Amino acid sequence: MTPVLVTGAAGFIGQHLGRALQVAGHQVWGVDLRPPPPTWDARYWIQGDLCEASLYQQFPPVSHVFHLAALAGVCPSLAHPEDYFRVNLGATAQLLTWLQTQPNPVLVFASSSAVYGDHPERPWHEGLRLQPISPYGASKAAAEAWIYSQCQQWGLRSAVVRPFSVYGPGQRPDMGFYRFAEALHLGQAITLRNPDSSRDYTYVSDVVSGMLKAYRWLLQQSPATWDCFNLGSQSPLALHQAYTLLAHLLQTTVPLHSAPLSPGEAVHTWSDGRRSAKILNYSPQVTFSEGLAAFSHWYLSRQGEGEL
Ligand code: NAD
Repeated sequence: MTPVLVTGAAGFIGQHLGRALQVAGHQVWGVDLRPPPPTWDARYWIQGDLCEASLYQQFPPVSHVFHLAALAGVCPSLAHPEDYFRVNLGATAQLLTWLQTQPNPVLVFASSSAVYGDHPERPWHEGLRLQPISPYGASKAAAEAWIYSQCQQWGLRSAVVRPFSVYGPGQRPDMGFYRFAEALHLGQAITLRNPDSSRDYTYVSDVVSGMLKAYRWLLQQSPATWDCFNLGSQSPLALHQAYTLLAHLLQTTVPLHSAPLSPGEAVHTWSDGRRSAKILNYSPQVTFSEGLAAFSHWYLSRQGEGEL
C-alpha cells in the first residue's frame, strides 16, 4: 500500500484520519507542531513548523499527502488574522514547493465551509462564488487558489474538501460542544451566540470517510486535476436544539444567556451534498443524535464519570 503523509496529524481530525489510513494498510507519516499521539509509531513522525523551509529536509520520499495542518476556527482568526494568513497560506505554499520535488504528487487539502462566508443561496454548492467573511475563511480560499495554480503549473493532482462543523470524540477544547459540555459539567452558565443560528454539523468519521473517498477518486485522475467537494451532513440544526440534546445526554442543565454572533460567523451553514455523492459516492452515515451521544460518552469517560 502506498505510504502517505498527514499534516496536522496530532489534531482532532488528523488523529482520526491517521488511524483510518493505518487500518486501511498504509504506512502513515505524521507531521505536526505537536508531538505524536500515544498510539502513533514515533519513527513515522516529524515534529515542527510547516512554515519553515528547513523542516522539509526531514521529510520522507512520499508523494501522497493529506494536508490538514492549519490554524482552525473563525472566531480566533478575528483576533489574529495575520497568523492565519502566515500559516494557512504560507505553510501550504511551502508544502507544495516540497511536493513538487516528489514523483506523481497527489494532495487532499482540508479547506472549510468558511470559504462560503454567509452566502445567501443555500444549500451551498461548490459552484458558488467564494465570499469568505472571516480571516480564517479567506485564508482557506487563498490556499485553494494557490493549490489550483500549482496544479496548472506542474501537474499536481488535488482534491479540495470543504468540511462543515466537524464534531465527535477527540474534539478540541476550544470547540463549541466541548466548551458546552465543560460548562454543563461544572454547572457554569452558557452563552449561546444567536441560538437560532444553525450549523450543518458533521460527524468526524463521515468527514474522514469523505477524505478517503476523495483520495481514491484522485488516484484515478490525470495530472493537473483540481476539484472541490463539500463534506457535510446536509441536515442543519439550530444551535439551541444542539444545546438541548447535549444537556439531555449529560443529564444536566445550566442557565443560558444569548449574545449576537461575532462578525465573521455565518448565521446558517448548509452543505449541498449532491456533487460529493455523485462523484465520490460520499454519504454521511451518522445522525446528529448518534454522533452527539458518542461525543458525550467520550467526554464523560475523560471526566472519569463512567458510562452514560
Ligand atoms: P486542529 O487544530 O485540531 O488540528 C490542526 C493541527 O495542525 C494541530 O495539531 C496543529 O498543531 C497543527 N498545526 C497548526 N499549524 C501548524 C504548523 N505551522 N506546522 C505544523 N503543524 C501545524 O484542527 P482540526 O479541527 O483537526 O481541523 C483539521 C483541518 O480541517 C484544518 O485545516 C481545519 O481548518 C479543517 N476544518 C476543520 C473543521 C472542524 O470543524 N474541525 C471544519 C472545516 C475545516
